[in-house]
Order: sequence, then C-alpha cells, then structure tokens
Amino acid sequence: MKHQKLSALKFLSVVFLMTLFLTPLNAEAQKKKRGKKKDQVEAPAKPAPKKSKEKKISDLVKSSKKIEGLFTMYQDTVTGSLQMLISEDQIDKEFIHFNQVADGVLEAGRFRGAYGGSKVFKIEKYFNKIEFVTQNTSFYFDPENPLSKSKDANISNGIMESVKIEAQDENKGLYLIKADGLFLSETFSQIKPPRSPGQSPMAFKLGNLSKTKTKVNSIRNYDKNTNLVVEYVYSSPSVLNRGSNAVTDGRNVSIKVLHSLIEMPDNDYEIRYDDPRVGYFTTQVTDQTSTSATPYRDLVHRWNLKKKDPNAAISEPVKPITWWIENTTPMEWRKTIKNAVLQWNVAFEKAGFKNAMVVKTQPDDADWDAGDIRYNVLRWTSSPRPPFGGYGPSFVNPKTGQILGADVMLEFVHFSGRVLVGKVFDADINEEAFDFSNENQMRCSAGYLMAKNTLFGQAVVRAFEDSDLELEKILHDNMMRLIMHEVGHTLGLNHNMRGSQLFSPEELSNPELIKGKSLSTSVMEYPAINITRDRSKQGIYYDNAVGPYDEWAIEFGYKDFSSEAEKQELLNKSAQPKLAFGNDADDMRSSNRGIDPRVNIYDLSNDAIGYAIDRIHLVNETMENIKTKLVTEGKSYQELTRAYGILQREYRNSGTTMSRYIGGVYVDRTMAGQEGGTQPYTPVSLEDQKRAMNGLRKYIFSPNAFEAPKGLYNYLARQRRGFNLGAGPEDPKIHNLVLSSQQSVLNHLLHPNTLQRITDSELYGNKYKLSTVMNDLNNAIFRADIYGNVNSFRQNLQLEYTNKLIEMLIGKSSSRYINNAKSMALYNLKKIRTMASPSGNIASIAHKQHLRTLIDNALKEVK
Ligand SMILES: [Zn+2]
Repeated sequence: MKHQKLSALKFLSVVFLMTLFLTPLNAEAQKKKRGKKKDQVEAPAKPAPKKSKEKKISDLVKSSKKIEGLFTMYQDTVTGSLQMLISEDQIDKEFIHFNQVADGVLEAGRFRGAYGGSKVFKIEKYFNKIEFVTQNTSFYFDPENPLSKSKDANISNGIMESVKIEAQDENKGLYLIKADGLFLSETFSQIKPPRSPGQSPMAFKLGNLSKTKTKVNSIRNYDKNTNLVVEYVYSSPSVLNRGSNAVTDGRNVSIKVLHSLIEMPDNDYEIRYDDPRVGYFTTQVTDQTSTSATPYRDLVHRWNLKKKDPNAAISEPVKPITWWIENTTPMEWRKTIKNAVLQWNVAFEKAGFKNAMVVKTQPDDADWDAGDIRYNVLRWTSSPRPPFGGYGPSFVNPKTGQILGADVMLEFVHFSGRVLVGKVFDADINEEAFDFSNENQMRCSAGYLMAKNTLFGQAVVRAFEDSDLELEKILHDNMMRLIMHEVGHTLGLNHNMRGSQLFSPEELSNPELIKGKSLSTSVMEYPAINITRDRSKQGIYYDNAVGPYDEWAIEFGYKDFSSEAEKQELLNKSAQPKLAFGNDADDMRSSNRGIDPRVNIYDLSNDAIGYAIDRIHLVNETMENIKTKLVTEGKSYQELTRAYGILQREYRNSGTTMSRYIGGVYVDRTMAGQEGGTQPYTPVSLEDQKRAMNGLRKYIFSPNAFEAPKGLYNYLARQRRGFNLGAGPEDPKIHNLVLSSQQSVLNHLLHPNTLQRITDSELYGNKYKLSTVMNDLNNAIFRADIYGNVNSFRQNLQLEYTNKLIEMLIGKSSSRYINNAKSMALYNLKKIRTMASPSGNIASIAHKQHLRTLIDNALKEVK
C-alpha cells in the first residue's frame, strides 16, 4: 500500500507534468490545424475573449438522459458518452472522493469491498477549463501565526484533470464538461497496481487500460453524492500468467470500481485528537507552526454521534449508526450477527448513548445494493479466492476524521476452511505479514486467524469425541467475535494485541466464571482460541462480549466531554492492566518491530508461557487420536491431513509465543506522573526468560520434540482433484514442516534486533545476559545427543543453527550484528567443533563431519 501511495503520487505528478507540457503542444497543434480560426485554447497569460457564437447546454445534451444529483450527469442515449454539469457555486469548493472495488480479482489486489481510501479535491475554473485538484490535508498552520502565510510552500496539490468547458449558462451559473475522460481513465485514483521491483516476471499482471472497452456500468445520483461504477478493462494480447480460475480470460480482466463524489459535510461534528494510549485509526496532521516536541493534530476516526437530549446522562443519538444485514446472508446466522453488533451498545452506554447501534435486514426486494455508500452493510460473499475471512473498512472526511460510511465484508470460507487445506502445509507462508505503513492500518486478518483457530478447535472436539453441540458452540462464538471485531474497526478502533492477558489459565478453564464475557480486554485482539485440556472444563471458546478496554476506548472516542480535564481523567486510567494497549505496530509477530512479549498474536492468558506449554500438550494429546477419530469410512484422508497441518501450526505458535519472552522488554505508555504508571521500559524477569528458554529446549529443540504417533505419517495424504495432485510432489515433507517451526523460533532468538536488545537492556535491568542466552541456546541444540546418535530432525536443526552462527560472522547480514553477538557466535562455533567429534552411527558421523567442515571453512574466512 505504501508503494501504491508513492506510485499514486508519482502518477499524479506525471499527469501534472503532462498537463504542463502537453497543453501548450496541443494548443500549438490545434492552432496549426485550424489555420486562421480563432483560438479555442487560450494561452495562459491572455484573458479569455468573448465568443460570438457560443453553444448552448441544451443543444449539447438533447440526445442525453439527464441524471440529476450533486453533479448532474448526462448520458448520451446512443453512445453512452457522459457529460457533467458544474455549477458556479461548486467552483472553488472542496469535495470528497472515495472509491471502493465493486468487483475485482484477488491476483491484482483489487477485490470486492476493498476500500481505495478517500481524499479531498477542489473544483477550480481556469479560463475555459474546469480543473479537479487534489488537496493536501496533512498539515495545519495556526492562522494567527504569520508563518501561515507561507503554508503552500513546497506542498504540491495534484491537478488530476483539466477539462474544457463545452458550454455555459451564464444566467443559471452552469458549466457543461465532457466527463468520459474523467471517469473512464484512472483520474481519481490509481486502479492498476504498480509493479514492485522484486516482483517475479511470472507474476500475474494486468494489461493496459483499454479505452474502448472501459465503460460506466451504472450511475446513481443523490443530493449529497454522485456515484458511478466504472468497469476498467485491462487488456494484453498475450499473457504469461493467466491467474486463477476466478480470472475467466487472463487477457481481458475487469476491475469494477465504485467512485463517489461526496459533498463536504457541513455539520456540527467535533474533531477529536488522537492519544497514544488508545488505539484509533487516525488521519495524521502535523502542526507546522508549533514548537512542541509532539506537534500532532492527528484526527481520530469516529462517527458523528450527538445526543437527542444533550442534558441527559444517557440519551439516544439523533442519528444512530445503522447496520444492514445483506440479503445474501444465510438465515441461520442473522440472529447471531445482529446480537454481536448490538454488543457494542454496552460500550456506547458508558459514553452516554443508548441504542447507538441499530441493526436492520436488507429486504430481498430492496431497490438499493450494498455498494450504496449511504448504507452500512454487513456483506456476505463466497469468493473463489477469498482475501480474508472478514474485513471492516470505513471511510472518512480527511479534513475532520468523521466516519461517513462503513461496511463489513464476510467470507463464507471463514466457516468452511476451504482454502486452508493446502496452506497449512506451506512451510514458508507468512500470512500474518503486515505492512506497517499508515495507509495500511486498516488491514485485518482476524477472520483468517480465527478460521485457523476454529479448525484447531474442531480437531480437538472430534479427537476427544465431544458432542456435536461443541462444534456448534465453536462456530457461534467464532461468529460473535468476528462480527464484534470487524464492527469495532468500523467504529474507528484499530487492533489491540495487548488484550489477551486478561484472565489466568485457571480462570479460562472455569466455564461459570467466563460465561458471556470477553476473554480478552479487547475483541480487537488476535488471541488463541480458548480450549481446555480437561474437556469437562470447557467454557466459551471466544469472546461473547466486548471487553473492558473496548468500553473505555469507545468512551474516549464518543463521550461528549464537558472539559479537557474530564477527558484526561479518563485517559489517565490507562495504567490499569485491563486498559493497556498495543497494536500491530507494537506486536511481536515480527522480530523487526515489537519488543513487549505481552503484545502478541496467538497467545492467551496472563501466563502466556505456561499456556503455550499447556497448548503443546493439548496438541500432542489430540494428535494421538486424529488417525482414529478424524477419518470417515468411505472418504479420503483429506480431513486428517488438514488436522495434522493445523495441529503443527498450533504447536509452532506456542514456540513463537515463548521465544518472544527471551530478551523481551515490557513497555508502559503512561504519561509522566500518571497514577499507576511505571518507567517506560522494564526487561522481562530473569525467571520468565529462563522459563521460556527451558520451554523451547524441551518442546521445540529436543530430540523427541514434534514426535507423531506411530503410523500417522503414512496417512497424511491429500485427495487428488481431477488430473491434479496439487503443486509439487504430493508427499507430506515432514522434516521441512518441523524445521520450519524450529526456524521460526531461531529466527527470532538470533535476530540482530533481539541480540542487540538483550545487550542493551543489560544496561537497564535485564539479568539474562547475552553470553548466557547464547550459551543456553547452544546447549539446547547440542547437549542431548552430540556425543552419540543424532536423529534426522536434530541433524537438520543443528545444521540450520550452525549455518546461522556462520551467517552472523561472515554472511551477507553479518554487518547487522553487534560485535559481542558475533564474538559469542565464534565462541559457540568453536565449542560445536570440539563437541562434534565423529561418533555414533554412520549418519551421525557424517553429520558431525559436515558440521566440522562447515565450521573449519568458516573460521578460515573470519578476519
Ligand atoms: Zn482486525
């Protein structure tokens, strides 16, 4: 998305440059062509002379159908070509442009419901032309400050299009322009994604935009917005990659985009500025006239809720946030969906609103569709290649942060788990990869994560022969939570990955205690599914209500505070553990960003290490039973194979969770002097770091880690489909799968950032020193078997680890490592060299010789 934005800027600059260069050229050409005829295109310096014979608007639109609205459109009844009216009072006024993909293909990153963002543009008149100019909304200048006179310095607005006025009506103050160029090209936003530099030439790509095939599918015009669905057709005579089955003809690909031109709201909406202790989506605005260390005026995204009775402690809003359940939604889910949305009303009551959220069902014969931006719709689709299981985007007025509309996209696959069969075996897949750019703050993979969690839950329930009622409960709880999560996004909330530490493991296995509650402090988390090893203690699987943090965050975003002090008082509660916050940019799924292991995905309970170990036991116990319980007579072994993959994933996640505690640093974002606040950085205790290291030694690195029940591997077979067996050889590649789990832990422990943090944090309280960590890791990987027989899994692990140490010393990434980490790598390599004297069976001797050769060669290169 960041690339896209950059490219969008580039694209705009190109358009801008073309406007600069091409206009005079065109003017020249036209002059020549017309000979002595009076200039139609004026040179910029000359004033426009009056024309004697002006065309009338009525003449030019007589064969067109008139579609009245914010911008009245005329569509020619023969050719379909478009003209558009601009009125005098729209000149120099600002409008909002918003676009959303109505239908597309996943390969191109343009899929149904994907939001293209909103921006402000101005309509300007320049001699005989109408210009559409994108406005920059990123900066603020205090109007009282003389600096504000220079507010345009080095800030480029984007002239998206400049269109000749075809005719005008001076009395009515109307201008008519041709609109085909405006809508049938990528004027308002870039639709075709740019090629990224590293992209494979084999990757799917869209052809060139076809001017003849691109067309307007529909026009809907209203008082305050004009909506057009444009079908962009990208053509290429020959293509290498034809895309998936969803692409009918790889040479001609259609992306349908809904464009909305929206009147700038003129209302009583009050801007609310962001606070780092709460997680809202924001539009960033920098105060260019402030001397503050934090010159931020970042706009919180929120709805314009106003009390009907401003004096009442709790009042209904003047206009509630109304949700429509799309008529494509299966009947059996409608009640649960409605109930989930209405859970947010509990939070709104704390902010002073009763019935803030209202849920209705779209009638089967409705004369509007879900793409209509005036309706907030809970949409339901079953795409051939679903991008997610749920998605909750909203669009805002970039000048104020006011949310103007929202949708929630739900994919049926979320419940069928269809696409997960192959994916769970793909060792390299990193579906949680997250682009941390601000533009991408709305990315959500909660649905995908929960689909995986649910498959795990189902495997456990079936392996332990629980009743079918449990399977229904899992689906119900899953749906409740998914809807609450996605609706939370549409209210302006971003993720809170710090939320899953609300309850202790004991509390989580107390069905009465957790009944009807939220299992995390926030439904905006990505937690592990709550499954008890003791199946008699199983309570709810996922949150059944919004959490305490959610209620607090809604209060911050929506309460009508009587004073700044009242707002600060609320924010000052942030030191309470149940109100702590950390989003995707803080969490530890990637070793590049987060440092606080409590801010993580896939974890659960206030003892995440203990819970992760317990989860590994649960996986092992489930694994014992899957071969007998997950195979149905007369059917293939597909379900068993999928369950094995899911269980491996869960096991792997437990290892990842533990690894984050080693070298972890707890972060406290309270403000100075705030009650309950501590210092910002406190390293994880030595005891917990050691516990995590021991857990990894025993369950991830030991010679018998990942042991599967006898005879299981022979049955891990996917079902063939027609001619195909799937990509690559079909065998289950167990060693790869196990090694990839071990790698995910090693990659973190030996990451340059982790090793640097361990060393640095020794200065502020970390007791688990770098030398001890690296020594303990070395022992965990070699001690148990290096003097005897080394099994094939451990051979893999030991070679992988040794190669990583060598990489640290002499590899491409060695410059990223701090010196004392490199010294420890060298120390450990020499230790391995000594330990790996040839012994044991032939395979073990060969392995040890391999280790020694690698080390000997590497040592020669160390300078
Ligand atoms: Zn999300």
